[in-house]
Amino acid sequence: MRKYYMAGNWKMNTTKGEAVDLAKALVSQLKGCAQKVMIAPPFTSLDAVGQVVKGSNILLGAQNMAAEEKGAHTGEISVLMLKDLGVSVVILGHSERRHIYGESDAFINRKVKLALQHGLDVILCVGETLDEREAGKAERICDEQTKKGLEGVSLAQLSKVTIAYEPVWAIGTGKNATPADAEAIHQAIRKTLAGLYSVDAAKKVQIQYGGSVKPDNVKELMAMADIDGALVGGAALKPESFVPIALF
Ligand code: PEP
Repeated sequence: MRKYYMAGNWKMNTTKGEAVDLAKALVSQLKGCAQKVMIAPPFTSLDAVGQVVKGSNILLGAQNMAAEEKGAHTGEISVLMLKDLGVSVVILGHSERRHIYGESDAFINRKVKLALQHGLDVILCVGETLDEREAGKAERICDEQTKKGLEGVSLAQLSKVTIAYEPVWAIGTGKNATPADAEAIHQAIRKTLAGLYSVDAAKKVQIQYGGSVKPDNVKELMAMADIDGALVGGAALKPESFVPIALF
């Protein structure tokens, strides 16, 4: 049986107390969950949530990190700081980073390489906007973002990379891609990976779908051959919705 990778991106939500309560509920309700599970609380709660998930089957993730290791970068959080708190995964290239904060593919690529050099696992997010989809450019955009995001990443490092396909128009909107639409892009991304590395290496990369994943649509999405998990935003903020997604 396939092991799916279910990840929760809490974004800029939860105070420390709320984060700890949510993490405690997930640790208890996801004990024995067959899937790989990760949660990414805000930076301010990483330490406290890290204590809660320690020794459990839930991985601690960060939502972003700086492109530099240390120094004069006011307001940034370094890979070294994340590792110090027990973080093992970092989400990079989320569409909110790309579109609200103007992160380019080249900038994201620097972060991807830095995270991998330091032994973190990476979830690299790719996805098209509504305009791009309507112009028939969805595959091309995902191909480009995948190639540019992985520039200089070796075959050995690829084993630490997950790709999350997140159509921008489906994030936090309640609209999700149909399983068939998502599957088509997942197949295209796998083809891109096969071209960059090998067919065999591409088969081993987990490709998550993200964009309004909910308990009532997770099953049909995960039934697709090339959808290997989910990156969940809104529905990751409550055990009542994240637990059934993780256990689907
Ligand atoms: C996300 O932010 O990664 C996401 C997929 O959000 P939502 O599930 O709320 O659409």
